[in-house]
Amino acid sequence: MHEYSIVQELVEKLLAECAVKKVTAVGEIQIRRGSTFADESLQQAFQIMTENTPLENAQLNIDDFDIENKCRSCGYTQVLTPDDLIGNLYVCPECGEATEIDERNGLQFIKMTF
Ligand SMILES: [Zn+2]
Repeated sequence: MHEYSIVQELVEKLLAECAVKKVTAVGEIQIRRGSTFADESLQQAFQIMTENTPLENAQLNIDDFDIENKCRSCGYTQVLTPDDLIGNLYVCPECGEATEIDERNGLQFIKMTF
């Protein structure tokens, strides 16, 4: 699943910060999830990757936001969901133009509290 690599990047970043601050247990993590990102995949990936780490029992607070795409060819605009993407490609339902969506924008880290 393509979400995994993005979540992994985030988890590695958070663990590095824990190491620097010598934190052994994180209380709360706040992130924002774009509409291209499947909530279930995100939760699942996070749970698996944080096992036996200081992040293990952290509460994950997720805010949603819409990722909108405007087709550069015909101007058709829609809010993207995971179902609209094939890998990281979006194909316009109106004209068939394929656009690459940078899913890294789909996950934003806000803050971590200890
Ligand atoms: Zn189009």
